[in-house]
Formats: sequence, C-alpha cells, structure tokens
Amino acid sequence: MSDTRDETPDYGDWEPVIGLEVHAQLLTESKLFCGCSASFGAAPNAHTCPVCMGFPGVLPVLNERALEFAIRTGIATGCTIPTRARWARKNYFYPDLPKGYQISMFDEPLAIGGGIDVETPAGTKRVRLTRIHMEEDAGKNIHDTDDAHSLVDLNRAGVPLMEIVSEPDIASAAEAADYLRTLRSLLQYLEVCDGNLEQGSFRCDANVSVRKKGDPKLGTRTEIKNINSFRNVERAIDSEIRRQIDLIESGGTVRQETRGWDADRGRTLAMRSKEDAHDYRYFPEPDLLPLEVPRERIEAIRGELPELPAARRDRFVEQYGIPDYDAGVLTARRDLADYYEAAVRTHPNPKALSNWVMGDVLRTVRERGLDEALVIRDWPVSAESLGRLVARIDDGTISGKIAKTVLEEMLASGAEPDDVIERKGLRQVTDAGAITGAVEEVLAANPDKVAEYRGGKDKLLGFFVGQIMKATGGKANPQAVNQILRARLGEPGTSSGG
Ligand code: ADP
Ligand code: MG
Ligand code: ZN
Repeated sequence: MSDTRDETPDYGDWEPVIGLEVHAQLLTESKLFCGCSASFGAAPNAHTCPVCMGFPGVLPVLNERALEFAIRTGIATGCTIPTRARWARKNYFYPDLPKGYQISMFDEPLAIGGGIDVETPAGTKRVRLTRIHMEEDAGKNIHDTDDAHSLVDLNRAGVPLMEIVSEPDIASAAEAADYLRTLRSLLQYLEVCDGNLEQGSFRCDANVSVRKKGDPKLGTRTEIKNINSFRNVERAIDSEIRRQIDLIESGGTVRQETRGWDADRGRTLAMRSKEDAHDYRYFPEPDLLPLEVPRERIEAIRGELPELPAARRDRFVEQYGIPDYDAGVLTARRDLADYYEAAVRTHPNPKALSNWVMGDVLRTVRERGLDEALVIRDWPVSAESLGRLVARIDDGTISGKIAKTVLEEMLASGAEPDDVIERKGLRQVTDAGAITGAVEEVLAANPDKVAEYRGGKDKLLGFFVGQIMKATGGKANPQAVNQILRARLGEPGTSSGG
C-alpha cells in the first residue's frame, strides 16, 4: 500500500508475459488435517502432533472451515466450483516435509476459471484465473541459528493454504503488483486470509517469459520464488524480464528453471532446473475421500458473501459523493472503509473526512507500522472521535490547522477533541476586539512594511497575516484577521487609513 511505483519501463519490441501463483494461508484456528494451532510465532515445534509430524499409521481429518474459506474465495472470483474435487499426493523429499509428500490437489481442483478485475493506471484489466486448489504447508528449515546443524520447525507443517493460479495475462511488473494488491484486498474482505506478506501468510511465485511483440507463441518461462513484498515483486520481475531479453539478444536461450530473488543485489539467481508435474508422481490421496460439495452448500456460501471492494468503491462514490480516487484508497482495506463509514455516521461531511482518513490517519498508521495487516483497530483514535474533531472545524470552534495539533494530542493521550481544545485553550478567536488588538500591535511594530504595502507592495498582506497568527498562537480566525487587516490598511497604492 505504501510502495511507490517506478515509471513504466520500456522493453523495446519485447513483450513480457507473467503468470502468478499465490499461496494464501487460510485464517483458520487449526491446521488442515489435525487439531494443532495454525497461529504464527509460537516456540519451534510447539504446534505439532503425530498427524502433522507424519508418524506412520495416523489419518488426516479435513478442517471443514478451511474448505469453506476456499470455496468462498472461488465464488467471489467467479470460478466454477465443480461438484467434486479430489486430494492428491505430491511426492518429494525435503527435511521440512515429514511425510515425504504434501497433500494437495492435482487433476480435480476445488475451483476453476474466474478472474480478477485489476484497476491499473491504464484502466481496468481482467486477469483470468486458471484454478484455485487447497493444500497443506510444509515446515521450515532454519540454517542460521546453529553453526553445525540445520534445524527443523514443523509449526507450519499442515497449515491450510490455497493456491491461486493466474493465467499468463499479466503484461508488466507494475501490473503484477497491482494484481497482488487487488487479490490481497479481496481475501481480506472475505476474511479468509490476513494477507501478511512479512509473516508469509500471502506468498507469491512469479512465472516470467518474454516474446517479440505480436508473436502468438509464449516464450520459455522461469519461475521466481521467495519474493516477500510488493516492492520486491516489481523489482524481481523487472530484473528477470531484462535478464531474459539480454540473454536472447546476445544469442542465448532461456532455460526453464526456478530462480531465487536476491533483494540485496537486485537480481534473480538460478536455483534449480524446473521440475515437471510428472517429477512429483502425483496420485490420488488414499487416506481422504474425494470432496463432494453439494450445490446447496455452494449457494449458501454465495448468499453470505460480504460486499466486495469493487462494489463498495462504487457505492462510496455514489452515496458520499467523493472522487473515485478517494473511494479506491478508502475501500482498498475493509477495516479502513469501515472506519471511514463510522466517522461519516458521526459527522456527515464525507469529503472532509475522506481527506483526514487518507492523509493524517493513513500516515500515522504507517508511521506506527500498522499497515501490513488488519490492524487499524489498534490505532488510538476511534472513528467517532475523528468525526467529532472534524465537526469542531466545521462549526468554527477551531481552524483546520489547529485541528492537526488537537489530533496529535488525541493520538498521544487518547483524549476526546473537546477536552483537548478546552484544556489547551485552542478555541479559535473570532472576537473582533481581540483580533484588532493583535493587528494594531503588529502594524505598530512594522511601520516600514506598512509604508511599503501602501506604496503598492500588496504581497506584504501575507506577512502581516502570518505575524498576527503568530501573535495569537495560531488561534485567530483567518477570515476575521483578513477582514480587519484589510480595513485597517486600506487598498495598497492608496494612502488612506493610518
Ligand atoms: P507449475 O505448477 O509447474 O508452476 P503451471 O503450468 O500450472 O505450472 O503454471 C504455473 C503458472 O505459470 C501459471 O500462473 C501460468 O499462467 C504461468 N505460465 C505458464 N506458461 C507461462 C509462460 N510461458 N510465461 C509466463 N507465465 C507462464
Ligand atoms: Mg509453479
Ligand atoms: Zn498436528
């Protein structure tokens, strides 16, 4: 959300082709096939049992909630949900995979087709989805805490994931990042994934190839793993596009391989040659029945979908009369949109509140590092208090500038705007007598400037206003100051007044 975007790069007569595979952790309490906690951050191997440690003779039991979340996602992205899906074993050896296989889906996935509409600077772009399937996560190997050994933490083994695979419809690195932001926002709205890139609950592998513009045939792709921020998605894909173009132009050919992203050096590095499906010896999982999802269940889940980001954005424009840009920022996150709507209910000035939320609120949320997940509820000023603050600007109690000071105090102490205004004596001065006093003082202290102003240097008006605001501690009503000052000075270039 806070990432800045590079200018669209120019690749000459080459055209990049990108398809993304996203692994999203489903927001369930427990793992996919056992009762262990799926939460992040526990002591290593605290969340394990014979099932997720792969002991012989144990049997998996499906977490129904995980299934429901994956179906919800499939429906919200317009996929077809077949009435039958089937679990498959994906076999490979790695120490973080205790069973020696991962339970996944292969030829009968949970959801097929569908797509995501992505708002890009060039307009709305539809990225088609190939499929969504469910699978269990692997554990984690830790290489840097012990000199002599690698350690294995199986807390993540068996955590429920869904893999969302896009068609190769994405045409630039920036578009890939836009797609991921849109997808993450959607999953957060659906409350199926917290979208936390840092903690790995939203991970992306990028498949990249290039071809000459107009060539109907796709080029050979590489797959980049381990990209952990939106910023790095853009950098990694852009760097890989350039590498492939340089390689082909200097007479080489792209090898189908898996590459890693080295953020420090800003380039991708070969990891291993790309495996094909047959390398994994997929076969139907014998310990689990095929999934039969009744139509009525699918329709029930469809009926309970929340309002989704695109619809909410349109409604904000319509209902609150705010610009489409504002509506896009405010609805990108469900919690932010909820916050905004609660503030408007308290004080119905939608445009002013939109400016406050997009400006001061988002800025401080970012400064406090709260923007990665669904945590605006941890921001100390409630939507109602923000509404009451803006109400005090609108009824003339304080100026917009003083309101910033009041907000800072609200953030620091959690106090209500009215208390801060009274306690700190920040009420705006509109009383003509008090303002005239300050005007007289400032004019008396600057006789040369008064003469210059009257001689025609009308820009000096701003100087006087500034001095008067300073003399009143910023509390004078700016319109009243202007009025009284102009009356007292007369028109520039005339010698009246004095
Ligand atoms: P795998 O699971 O082996 O990575 P898939 O065939 O399911 O294989 O493809 C995964 C991703 O690669 C999809 O997102 C797809 O859109 C993308 N993809 C396939 N071919 C290309 C290509 N030539 N260039 C870029 N992306 C591609
Ligand atoms: Mg892949
Ligand atoms: Zn377990």
